[in-house]
Amino acid sequence: NELFQYADMAMYEVKKSGKNAVYFFEQLMQEKFVERICLENKLTNAIDTSCLELYFQPQVDITTKTLRGFEALVRWYDSELGWIKPDQFIPMAEESKLIIPLGDWVLDQSCYYLAKWQREYNFQGIMSINVSPIQLKNPTFLFDLNSAIRRHNIDPRKIEIEITEGIFIDNIEDTVDLLTRIKELGIGISLDDFGTGYSSLMMLKSVPIDEIKLDKSFIDDYNDEKGRSIISCMLDLAKMLDLPVVAEGVETEEQYLYLKQKGCEVIQGFYFSKPLSAIEFMNKIVDIFYNN
Ligand code: C2E
Ligand code: CA
Ligand code: CA
Repeated sequence: NELFQYADMAMYEVKKSGKNAVYFFEQLMQEKFVERICLENKLTNAIDTSCLELYFQPQVDITTKTLRGFEALVRWYDSELGWIKPDQFIPMAEESKLIIPLGDWVLDQSCYYLAKWQREYNFQGIMSINVSPIQLKNPTFLFDLNSAIRRHNIDPRKIEIEITEGIFIDNIEDTVDLLTRIKELGIGISLDDFGTGYSSLMMLKSVPIDEIKLDKSFIDDYNDEKGRSIISCMLDLAKMLDLPVVAEGVETEEQYLYLKQKGCEVIQGFYFSKPLSAIEFMNKIVDIFYNN
């Protein structure tokens, strides 16, 4: 994909200048390569020096409007580049395997905050952590997950990992085994971005998941009649399979009311709150749930 993009860019330069396409293509490839190495070095450094930060987005029980828990979302601050969004570095981290130390950092930090909030505020909610397929398939994942939980003395039933359909592409038996072992620890498993990837509906009945996350792209289509039919179908399907649904990217009251009426269990989105820094999160939570 990227190659096609460079080829397009090179063709554009050729049209402008009349020069040889290969010349521009090679030059572009080289620039991108250097950029990429530079970004990988920066990320390696950021992981080592803790220039990453976790943000926390509330997940709210749709009927009671009480806090069910939150999702931990990583952010990266670079002194030259500023704040970098995860969509811009997670794919690169996956390709370069930096996702392994990065994911481990996320596990440690998220458990640190959960333990702190349990201690200081008697916080009882569930914490969702994103786990990349590459991180999950790393042989030490189960050990790393367990270590983080023990290190911070957390009840595993307060943790849920968010996995994506990508992990079921190959070797489904091994993946099911691994997920079963994770569940045996008491940790919940949530299927993220459901419906956007590779999964078939058949898969849903054979994999050990506890919950489905309805992707933001479905909620974005709410204003479209067909879009609403799809949301409704997905919620019916989840009901039949006895799987609760967390709807993500809920931005308006209309969407919230529709999802509530359709029996969705939990919502996450700007309608309730955007992702917050640790301090903002606690201020808001204390305000809403403890001060009245
Ligand atoms: P995701 O897991 O699907 O996370 C939801 C994304 O939707 C987050 O973007 C969140 O900020 C955004 N979002 C939630 N509600 C709304 C809304 O109402 N409106 C809008 N416009 N956006 C909303 P974010 O934080 O930029 O993360 C992007 C993706 O990066 C995540 O998508 C996830 O795939 C990945 N990611 C983030 N943190 C981690 C991490 O610690 N580990 C791994 N492996 N991936 C991560
Ligand atoms: Ca997620
Ligand atoms: Ca998503």
